[in-house]
This record gives sequence, C-alpha cells and structure tokens, in this order.
Amino acid sequence: MSKRTVCLPDGTLVPAIGQGTWNMGENPAEKKAEIAALRLGVDLGMSLIDTAEMYGEGKSEQVVGEAIKGIRDDVFLVSKVYPHNAGKDRLFSSCEQSLKRLGTDHLDLYLLHWRGRVPMAETIEGMEQLKKEGKIARWGVSNFDTDDMKELLNTPGGGNCATNQVLYHLGSRGIEYDLLPWHQQNNVPIMAYSPLAQGGSLRKELLHDPVVRKIADAHQAEPLQVALAWSIRSNHVIAIPKAGKEKHVTANAQASALLLNTDELNQLDTVFSPPAQRMPLDII
Ligand code: NDP
Repeated sequence: MSKRTVCLPDGTLVPAIGQGTWNMGENPAEKKAEIAALRLGVDLGMSLIDTAEMYGEGKSEQVVGEAIKGIRDDVFLVSKVYPHNAGKDRLFSSCEQSLKRLGTDHLDLYLLHWRGRVPMAETIEGMEQLKKEGKIARWGVSNFDTDDMKELLNTPGGGNCATNQVLYHLGSRGIEYDLLPWHQQNNVPIMAYSPLAQGGSLRKELLHDPVVRKIADAHQAEPLQVALAWSIRSNHVIAIPKAGKEKHVTANAQASALLLNTDELNQLDTVFSPPAQRMPLDII
C-alpha cells in the first residue's frame, strides 16, 4: 500500500491520511471496535491520530490512549485544547490532563481548537513553554481563516505554527480561494477535517454523483475513496477521516494509493466547483 506523506514545516513527514476520533468513546458498546479500528489504521500506515479534550469531554482521548498502548512510538499523536483553556492559567493543566488520558508523556502536535478570547501572543507563549518542557513536540491551530493566519504569523513565535486544521472536502472547497494558497506560499500544511463530508446531504451527493461513481469504477474503488484521494491531491493536505469500522479503515488506507489524473480532477470540478470568490471559512 502506498504511503503518501506530507512534510511539516520542521521537515517531519506525516502520513497524508491519518485518523479522526470525534464521537469515539461516547458509546461504551463500540469502544472495543473503535480501539481495534484505530490499531488497524496504524498498521495500515494511518499512524497520525487526531483527538481533542472536547471530544466526549476526554472520552475520545481515553479510547486513543488504549489504542496506542504499546505502540506509542509508532503514532503521531495530535490533540487540541479548548479556546477557553488556551491561556496561561489553564493551558498547562489542560495539556497535562490530555497526556494522562492518552497515557503518554508528550504530544506530537497540540492544536488550539478554534480562536477564542485569549490573545494569540499568550497562547503562543504557552505553547512554546510546553515545547521547552517536552510536553509537546510542536503546535498548530484549527478553524483559522486567512486573516487569522496572517495575524498569527505577525505575532512573535507565530511562525512556528505547524498546521491549521480546517473543514475541507469535495463539497466544501471555499479554502481554495485564498486560505489554501496562503498556506502553500507559507509552507504550512492544511489538515482537512470531515474529509468524507461526515454525513448528511453532502455525503449523499458524493455517494450518488454519477461522475464520482464513474471515476471510482475506473479505479475499482468506492466513491468515498475518490473523495479522500481528491482531498490529498496537492501533497500539502493531510486528511483525517474518522472510521470506527474496520472495513472503513481499510478503504481509507487504500485511498492513499489512488491517484486521480488531470482529466478526472477536471471532471470533479464540473460537479463540485472550486470557489469563484472569497467565502467565509466553513466550520462544524
Ligand atoms: P468524516 O468526514 O471523517 O466522516 C466520518 C463518518 O464517515 C463516520 O460516520 C464513518 O463511519 C464514516 N466513514 C469513514 N470512512 C468511511 C468509508 N470508507 N466508507 C463509508 N463511510 C465511512 O467526519 P468527521 O467529522 O469525523 O471528521 C474527521 C475528523 O476530523 C474527526 O473525527 C475529528 O478528529 C476531526 N474534526 C475536527 C474538527 C475541528 O473543529 N478541528 C471538527 C470536525 C472534525 P464509521 O465511524 O461507522 O466507520
């Protein structure tokens, strides 16, 4: 299986397809299957795992903690801090609690979940302190639009931001207008959340669209594998689909090897058009 990678600003290579964990741990009856799914994902090369203190108020981190027992060093571990915990008074204890739930002594990447009221400079200072203490290897942000990223980069230490995790899938391409180009120019990869459109009407469109189906058939693949392969086509985007079922994990890992040609990308553009003007950032 092909292992496509994305290069972080510090030169670290991470898999282009990782694993999301939102909603994991919320239903005790599914916990065992979720742990097995995450471990299978790591075996298949999706060794980047994304979680957050918010998910199930720590339950997702606990599931991830159990899944990575004994394989911590094989995993690139990402968690996120609530904006209201991102000031100097709470950042350190939030991080400590995440580490405890995850059963590890460090995170590979710690993200500010979205922008809140704490000044950027204070969060950056805290993140840099966590780096010095060895609690995190690097930090980044999530749900930041272009102006937020520009402001971040103009704040002392802001240039150390490793990624910006935002909503991105075939049915939501607004970031292609200026956020994604800004990221490419500044060599900061995007991490695409909900790359499979999570659920709802857009997901149905992806599943039933004849163009997506035709391309999927040509690759002996499923429509959602085409959507996932599309999201990582630039080599500058890391996608983090969530899959609690092993058959979905396997399908997602296989999508890493699915290369769409220019003609196929053009066909997808005709159905799911790129933005013609600036759009506010889509957020879940
Ligand atoms: P996704 O777009 O990843 O969709 C997840 C859904 O798709 C699940 O129901 C899953 O089912 C199903 N699925 C996964 N793979 C397949 C497949 N191959 N075929 C068919 N169905 C499939 O949605 P998420 O919103 O979960 O986004 C992914 C991750 O991004 C989150 O889990 C989270 O880690 C992160 N995120 C971050 C946000 C932020 O604000 N920073 C916001 C939202 C998400 P099943 O589980 O049954 O296998």
